[in-house]
Amino acid sequence: MRYYSLNQQAPPVDFQAASIAGQAPDGGLYFPEQIPKFSKELLHNLNTIPRAELAFEVIRPYVGDAIPDDVLRGICAETVAFEFPLVPVTSQIAALELFHGPTLAFKDVGARFMSRCLGYFSRQQTAPVTVLVATSGDTGGAVADGFLGVEGVEVVILYPSGKVSPLQELQLTTLGQNITALEVRGNFDDCQRLVKQAFLDPRVTSHRQLTSANSINVARWLPQQFYYCFALQQWEQPAPPVVAVPSGNFGNICAGLMAHASGLPIGHFVAACNANSAVADYLRTGTFEARQAIATLSNAMDVGNPSNFGRILELFGKRHADISRLVSGAVVSDADTTATIGRVHQETGYLLDPHGAVALWALEQYLSEHPTEHGIFLETAHPVKFPEVVEPVIGTTVPVPVAVQGLLSRTKQSVLLEPSYEALQEFLLR
Ligand SMILES: *Cc1c(COP(=O)(O)O)cnc(C)c1O
Repeated sequence: MRYYSLNQQAPPVDFQAASIAGQAPDGGLYFPEQIPKFSKELLHNLNTIPRAELAFEVIRPYVGDAIPDDVLRGICAETVAFEFPLVPVTSQIAALELFHGPTLAFKDVGARFMSRCLGYFSRQQTAPVTVLVATSGDTGGAVADGFLGVEGVEVVILYPSGKVSPLQELQLTTLGQNITALEVRGNFDDCQRLVKQAFLDPRVTSHRQLTSANSINVARWLPQQFYYCFALQQWEQPAPPVVAVPSGNFGNICAGLMAHASGLPIGHFVAACNANSAVADYLRTGTFEARQAIATLSNAMDVGNPSNFGRILELFGKRHADISRLVSGAVVSDADTTATIGRVHQETGYLLDPHGAVALWALEQYLSEHPTEHGIFLETAHPVKFPEVVEPVIGTTVPVPVAVQGLLSRTKQSVLLEPSYEALQEFLLR
């Protein structure tokens, strides 16, 4: 498989080059030259094929010759070595729980897959790689965990000071070794802007081999298709589901749209947004306008100018009518987010995190207009990561899962950074 730049000013490359570079040299996102089709056999055997094997079948055409099949099988098995349960919440709605990975974030899958691919590639090349990543919350922890101790890879994480939850901050600032956390006095868009600028700065890129672990990177973006396949493995209704995806940078939903284009039977997508509604507004009006990020309770989705929107446009040949036929947008307020957490907990006992609550609210809205359909929402984080939102609403504390209890006694280690490019440049030129 070859990947071309959406800016059209850089030569196409293979999977290895695309995942080492992150972004194309012309600043564009890489996009695959073909969308592979799932075989009839695969779709027919969906609910009996083992999860790791399904992941391998889905990703193999995208990896091509860059990684031998036996190595890729191993990478896939490690990537999906935890549960992805589809849990009924009401008679019409189920939650696909994506928070059973090591950092309780759905981003664990992309981060684990990408780190293992880069680990494999770094065995063949001598120059060390620096993974530079901006996080609005969950990416940092998942990337830090995925790359911890991977030889030949240094990880630098930028996060907005005071805008990630305490547990999230511990996850990305306490590992040490090859992981450095830069605490930026600004918001997520500042972090993302600084990272983008570094990739285009020849002084930095001649000093270090930089790569991105944001969903810009094909090795982090594409394995997210697995979630949708795992959801369908467990789907028992006769008609394809409506799937609601809590969206920020739109990497996750864009991966779902890729799986759909490959033949996965999904009836409709709902792009669930918080007040950062640029894409939802586009779906409604046909006009896209990037914005400043607005801080909300679902902070991992506080993105004003989503990176992957360009990939969605590309997938549909920029035809708004085609996109909006398959994808609806929804804009969910903080008040509706907390009200949904409280109501669902009271009525069903199910405890949502703020991101899942946004998606559930959006799905309920859609289903109220399509009452014969059934839906899935992606529950992208464990509620314990957002105690300051969840606990006042339900009136009790959320028990900390064993997987992260050890974090609570660790000490944060970060480097404070002004939101100016000079500050980041100086750090990277050390
Ligand atoms: C990153 C994240 C999202 C948004 O995913 P995108 O792929 O950026 O749209 C949603 N929920 C949680 C918990 C996240 O960490």
